[in-house]
Amino acid sequence: MNWRKWLVVPTLVVLTACTSSTQQGATGITRKQLLLLPSSQVDAMALQSYKGELDAARKKSTLNTDKATLERIRRIADRLVPQVAVFRPDAVRWGWEVNLETRNELNAYCAPGGKIMFFTGIIERLKLNDDEIAAIMGHEIAHALREHGRERISQAYAQQAGMTLLAVLTNMDSKKAALLQTATTLGLTLPHSRGQESESDVMGVELMARAGFDPRASVSLWQKMNAANKSAPPAFLSTHPSSAQRIDELQGQMATVLPLYEAARRNPPKAPAIIPRS
Ligand SMILES: [Zn+2]
Repeated sequence: MNWRKWLVVPTLVVLTACTSSTQQGATGITRKQLLLLPSSQVDAMALQSYKGELDAARKKSTLNTDKATLERIRRIADRLVPQVAVFRPDAVRWGWEVNLETRNELNAYCAPGGKIMFFTGIIERLKLNDDEIAAIMGHEIAHALREHGRERISQAYAQQAGMTLLAVLTNMDSKKAALLQTATTLGLTLPHSRGQESESDVMGVELMARAGFDPRASVSLWQKMNAANKSAPPAFLSTHPSSAQRIDELQGQMATVLPLYEAARRNPPKAPAIIPRS
């Protein structure tokens, strides 16, 4: 081990460990986060997993087969993505992608780095209008902006390996790499914490309002989720519990975000086609 690395890395960790991944918007999220690993590392792993999902869907001929719905969700993303600059100017330049799998499940996500996936099931079975789709997409984009995956990996890693992280960052061998992979899997697959969910609700509803989508649709969306949960709990709800508390919190944001929505309706923001069409 080169001793100089031991001087540099702890400084790096201290500098990056306690920070907020985003700037404060109108809704005011300022929570400091434990962010140990470089975001580039998390994004690379998330991209690998996203590509795996795309390949699997392509092999089953279920990827982007519903062209009309695909174009519909890409147009919604074209409006939402420019608004991320309020929270993080760098994220506008992420390699944003939106894909759609024809699959009768209620699920959608935005992987770290801006890789969005929707299943047709969530749109069809909940009969979502564009505002409600924007509510889900805004919420999922907020998870990526806030780097909740990276935060969970950092927490899992801090628990599992403690200071061994320093060695991993400086001189990774296969055993340590395996440990990191485990922490990453845990971080990217475990449900978000209630605090992270709440942050994504708040930031997501601001994103949609700024893009000119009616923020009240976030409430109708979760009411639909609640109703769906009564018949057969969908996978999405295992990671996104729909509760009266969630709906109350969203309603509590309306006084802040409705004026943003009304301003966007009066003066619609530009929505260039920034999501690649394939
Ligand atoms: Zn969520």
